[in-house]
Amino acid sequence: MSNTKQTRRLTPASSDTLLTMLETLPGAFFFLNDTDTIVYANARAQVITGATREELRGNPFWRSAPHLVSTALYQAVLKTRQTQEPTEVEYGSPVTRTWLHVQLAPTMGGVMLQVHQRSAPARHQEMVPRSQPLSGAVLDGLHAGIAVLTPEGIVLEINEAPLDGAHMRREEVIGQPLAQTPWWSFTPASQEQLRAAIARASMGETVLFETLVRPREGMLLHLEVAITPHVNADHHLEYLVIAGIDITARKRAEDEIRVLVDAIPQFVWMTRPDGSAEYCNQRWCDYTGMTVQQGQGDGWLQAIHPDDQQPTLAVWQRAVQTGTSSETEMRLRQGTTGDYRWFLVRAVPFTDAQGQIVKWFGTCTDIEEQKRAEQQLKASEENLRVLAETLPQLVWTTGADNRLDYCNQRYCEYTHAAFEQLQGHGWRQFLHPEDDEGVMPLRYQTLETGEPFESECRLRNGQTGEYRWFLARGMPVRDETGQIVKWFGTNTDIEDQKRVEEALRQSQERIRALIDSNIIGITSGEVEGEVLVEANDAWLHMSGYTPEDVRSRTLTRARITLPEDAPLFERALQEVTTRGQHTPFETELVCKDGSRLPILVGGVLFQDHPRQFVVGFMLDNSARKELERRKDDFISMASHELRNPLTALKLQTSLLQRQLAKQGLQASVPALSRMETQLNTITRLVEELLDVSKIQAGRLEYLQETVDLDALLGEIAETMQQTHPSHRILVHGAVRTSLIGDRDRLGQVFINLLENAIKYAPDAQTVEMDLSSSPETVTIRVRDHGLGIPREQRDKIFERFYRAAGPKQRAISGLGMGLYIVAEIVKRHGGTITVDSEVGKGSSFTVTLPLTRDA
Ligand code: ADP
Repeated sequence: MSNTKQTRRLTPASSDTLLTMLETLPGAFFFLNDTDTIVYANARAQVITGATREELRGNPFWRSAPHLVSTALYQAVLKTRQTQEPTEVEYGSPVTRTWLHVQLAPTMGGVMLQVHQRSAPARHQEMVPRSQPLSGAVLDGLHAGIAVLTPEGIVLEINEAPLDGAHMRREEVIGQPLAQTPWWSFTPASQEQLRAAIARASMGETVLFETLVRPREGMLLHLEVAITPHVNADHHLEYLVIAGIDITARKRAEDEIRVLVDAIPQFVWMTRPDGSAEYCNQRWCDYTGMTVQQGQGDGWLQAIHPDDQQPTLAVWQRAVQTGTSSETEMRLRQGTTGDYRWFLVRAVPFTDAQGQIVKWFGTCTDIEEQKRAEQQLKASEENLRVLAETLPQLVWTTGADNRLDYCNQRYCEYTHAAFEQLQGHGWRQFLHPEDDEGVMPLRYQTLETGEPFESECRLRNGQTGEYRWFLARGMPVRDETGQIVKWFGTNTDIEDQKRVEEALRQSQERIRALIDSNIIGITSGEVEGEVLVEANDAWLHMSGYTPEDVRSRTLTRARITLPEDAPLFERALQEVTTRGQHTPFETELVCKDGSRLPILVGGVLFQDHPRQFVVGFMLDNSARKELERRKDDFISMASHELRNPLTALKLQTSLLQRQLAKQGLQASVPALSRMETQLNTITRLVEELLDVSKIQAGRLEYLQETVDLDALLGEIAETMQQTHPSHRILVHGAVRTSLIGDRDRLGQVFINLLENAIKYAPDAQTVEMDLSSSPETVTIRVRDHGLGIPREQRDKIFERFYRAAGPKQRAISGLGMGLYIVAEIVKRHGGTITVDSEVGKGSSFTVTLPLTRDA
């Protein structure tokens, strides 16, 4: 019967015989086809399994005979089928705990089993296939639910733990497809999950998954399930071991965490120790538009920007391998808009008491704004740098710690150093040692206070070794929280400015020395308003005013000068504003006590935008004036004193002349006549002296009479011609009018002019007089062909006692009074006198007199 060939030769007739025989045999017989369906079971088999023949026949063996099922039997069936050799197996039934001995033989397309029940193992333990590592007894000690399955998922063995939970007996489970047991059958999803896992495991893969099972009504468990395939030495799949660990408590804790985590505004996720994603919070789902399931495993990668996927994965894998926290930045796609935003991703491993990583926790923080701000900062820094390169200054930036982190090209050029030599504190080697001590403490102080920094310091030119002065300025750059993140600074070359300042300081010192020397009075007054605003001690001393008077701004021009001098000041002011300075003039200062102080005034314009000042220089002129006064007094006195004896002398001379004539002593007449001429000359000099002193004193008197000018001038010309035969006096034209004036004084004018014309033209033969008139004026010009007058002296010849300095003029006698008197008389007649001259050619004096005069 263990012969395969015999069974193959069975005929229908003989099969009946065989069946009868089988029914009588003491052992239980099962005939299984190639799908382990029972095609035949004898009566004894019905007894052992407690099932009817109908319940057995046509049904799967492993399900219909749970009492007999074991891994050992299963393996033996497989072996018989594979080897086509009879075999036998002895084992304890996991259900009945009775000892069974089964003999197996191959049949055509199937296997035949003969089962014997025994009370005790008749055979030695070696009979049990060695490859059976698990038995119900062994597994019962474990808390985990463990079962051995056929590759199809039929339960061959199961331990106590799951049976207890399900309130089930072992026989209710053994031989059943696991997916149909109450644990799994409560929902098609769980069932399907298990079937799929078994299918994968039976292909040789270890399958891990989490699932929900229901051992009994009202009890739900979370299981972490592992299905491991077991292969024999020939690499044939023998069976599957399924182990399930209750993770319900953990799941609950995790769920609670999730509720919390979902409330966190960031994206939060968890992965398994191997890095495969397990969970992402609601916010992550909302943002990416993915479900938790889609994000699981490595589904989350889909939400990352294609360019960031590889780098992110690389960082993540390294973190998982090394078990250390990781941090990276990446762009995540927003599900609804498709836009990407930047996120900072952090992952931290979570370890158990043994230090084993049980999970990874991670967060994604939106840093888009920050990134944008950074980019903007970068862009603006870029702009700043471009700008900085165009600036003529040395431009630098430092961090909040004062370490230089940027400088422009100009800085490098000036110091003749590369940026690397200047960065950090490198630049300080170019700072003047004295300034280093002065500048750096200030710098650190401003670093603390955050105030803008400004200081002057010397920096060495790297090429020439010379130091130049720079104005260093630094401004803090703050972030939106007000924190200083940078300092932006410039160094401006102020060497030239410093030099100018120094020169100015020196010149100011010199001016100050002049002012303080108190030799001359110095004032400064506003052009606008003509108020004195400053005065030195010398001025205060000469005027008697106090510094308070100056400060109070009450010293106006009207107060400190004479009303009659106003035209002088007005002229000076006009001159100073157009030329920058005015010609010094004499005037009088009205002192504080009301007295008048003769002064000589000069002034220059001083521009202090927008205002203009006149700086006045005043010399006390009183000593000179006093001298002049004394001289005038002397002249006046002397001329008076001389006139009387001269008049007496002249009288006596003419008396003597007449007496001698009477006595007929003619020989003495010429001598006396010469005496008379000399006396006349002296008399004229004394008269002139007297006139001058009268003019000075303002006491020269004028008659108001009608003067026939033609007659007067004709008379004068005639007389002069007689006394001066050396020159011919030619009169051209006539004025044909008369005017009101002093006949003698006007005569004095033309006599003087004619005398000079003759005197200063010793080699000429003629002197001309041109007369003309207009309805308003008469003009008399006296022309000579003599020495002429140099240009620079032409104005001065009208001054008192002025005589031209040339040697030829000096050789001609005179006292410099004539033209002074002439000018005064012309002036008093409301007229003008001008001179035209060419040295060596001659001069021409023009007198213009008005015909009618006011007052
Ligand atoms: P003086 O007594 O010296 O002639 P005046 O007052 O008449 O004094 O003249 C002043 C000066 O002007 C003279 O010293 C002389 O140098 C110059 N001067 C006057 N008239 C003439 C002239 N016609 N030609 C040249 N120089 C003249």
